[in-house]
Amino acid sequence: MSKSNLKILTVGFSEEESSLLRSELVNIQLLKNVCNMADIESALNERDWDVMLSNHDSLLFNSIDAFNLLIESNKDIPFIIYSNESDDDTIISALHCGVNDYVQKDSILRLAHVIEKEVRNVEVRRERNRTQNQIFRLAYYDELTGLPKWNLFFEESSSLLAEIAKSNANAGFYLVNVERITHVNGIYDPSIGDLLIKQISSRLSTLVNHNCLLTRINDCQFAFFNAEVTDSESVQNFANQIIKLAISPILINKLEFYVTLNIGVCVYPADGKDVAKLFTNAENTLLNTQYLWKNSCMYYTKEISKTVARRLELKESLFYAIEDKELLLHYQPIVDLESGNLTGVEALVRWHHPKFGMLLPEKFIPLAKETGLIVDLSKWVLKQACKQARMWHEAGFKSLSMTINISAIEFDQAKLIGHIEGVLAETGMPPELLELDIAESVLMQDAEMSVKILQSLKEIGVRIAIDDFGIGYSSMSYLKHFPIDILKIDRSLTHDIIFDSNSSEIILAIIGLARSLNYSVLAEGIETKEQFDFLYSLKCNRAQGYLFSKPIPAEEILLLLEHRNS
Ligand code: C2E
Ligand code: MG
Repeated sequence: MSKSNLKILTVGFSEEESSLLRSELVNIQLLKNVCNMADIESALNERDWDVMLSNHDSLLFNSIDAFNLLIESNKDIPFIIYSNESDDDTIISALHCGVNDYVQKDSILRLAHVIEKEVRNVEVRRERNRTQNQIFRLAYYDELTGLPKWNLFFEESSSLLAEIAKSNANAGFYLVNVERITHVNGIYDPSIGDLLIKQISSRLSTLVNHNCLLTRINDCQFAFFNAEVTDSESVQNFANQIIKLAISPILINKLEFYVTLNIGVCVYPADGKDVAKLFTNAENTLLNTQYLWKNSCMYYTKEISKTVARRLELKESLFYAIEDKELLLHYQPIVDLESGNLTGVEALVRWHHPKFGMLLPEKFIPLAKETGLIVDLSKWVLKQACKQARMWHEAGFKSLSMTINISAIEFDQAKLIGHIEGVLAETGMPPELLELDIAESVLMQDAEMSVKILQSLKEIGVRIAIDDFGIGYSSMSYLKHFPIDILKIDRSLTHDIIFDSNSSEIILAIIGLARSLNYSVLAEGIETKEQFDFLYSLKCNRAQGYLFSKPIPAEEILLLLEHRNS
């Protein structure tokens, strides 16, 4: 297809020849003739020409000089020589220099054809470049934020590292984990989460320069390689800058968002001699920041490597823990505040590890979740706990309830309902005495889906509690749609009753809310008489906590039950 409205720059033609070309060539919008190097240069700067046509017979200058000027301008414009010259050597040497074609002056038809061909070729070349640029962008840049992807960041920070290694300088590697984005994605439209990431990324980008590189590793993780730090103070200052930039409120669609973050920091060369090692160590450091205050950073130490190695060892041995009968259940009494009776227990898993001794869930439940073993572990817990409850029922404590914890992974499993039904049938456990603790954060991940799963669970007849209630971000409008029975006040709120008036206000509100929605309330973590008195005065229904008993083995629960009876 021929292009219309061609803009042709002719070089070194007489007035007469120019007008002839203008009249003989069709599809021309503009034909400008220039006759010296300075004019060629300014014409090239003036606009993008479709073709340059050079008169090789001009005595005023050399076509090849004009061509070289075009090359210097870096523009992709086909350069065609138009000449009376028919000597093969001259033609071949011009083509060797890179000009696109050579046309005899007596052949205007061939000239038109060559122009058309070259214009088409340029279009093809431009399209190919556009595609290549796009492929390059997709391969090396993050689509959402425009930040370099890990592969480009890795290449660039490795060469920066090689540079600074020559002068024995330091560098800081910062792995930044932004929290709450996942949570925001669960509640709002995913586009809000995207906008949040974009805003954080553009804030962090203000720290970037040729010595300080930034990448986005995944949804909520960013990494900096900063070759401008010189000593421990500047390493810390940079971390403070990151925190300061990220945590100020972010406004999206008139909603105010606050993010929290943790940073794992490694220093070159002490903590790693190359970028891959610095990244691994920063990642291991980040795993340990979950126990830190929010918005803080943690420095890599050799100890962290040991902790990670231990984690790995635990993870490995967890595969055999169920088979090798190393798991056991302890039970924490649940007390009715009005009567003081022990009305139920919560089953809490422990791992008697052959090397590390008795481990609490915080040491291995996260690993079980990571490996997917939580599903097998929970099946074991459910069956074991129901069997145990039946033994107590048969010993005369017929109305004793059993609570078990359901993790996010199980909650999402289609098989959960069938599995619970199976265990209830197999053990003879009355469904109304089985209570399932499901954390508030789990239910809010996909609130609409949660309502459906909860409805199916309710159909079996089991009771459902929202665990760790009051610290998360429940949307009140959803709460009333959840077919649940119990709100379990998180133990951090119970703990703060005495020192923090906000906590007691929140508890007051929770109990009021529960009453209006016809839910019962269970307070977790009662340790003192004051906490007990406060909750009793508010007519909280049930409670659990060290004031009554820590989680204990089954035999001790039986003793407690018998003691209470007598
Ligand atoms: P949770 O369901 O909130 O369980 C209550 C935790 O609070 C237990 O910790 C219990 O020992 C502790 N606790 C109870 N009363 C007090 C108190 O007065 N003061 C203090 N400081 N703590 C108290 P534990 O046994 O370490 O369990 C921690 C978490 O591990 C549980 O929190 C639950 O989320 C999870 N977990 C335990 N067993 C299982 C299980 O079998 N399956 C699943 N999926 N998760 C489990
Ligand atoms: Mg619980």
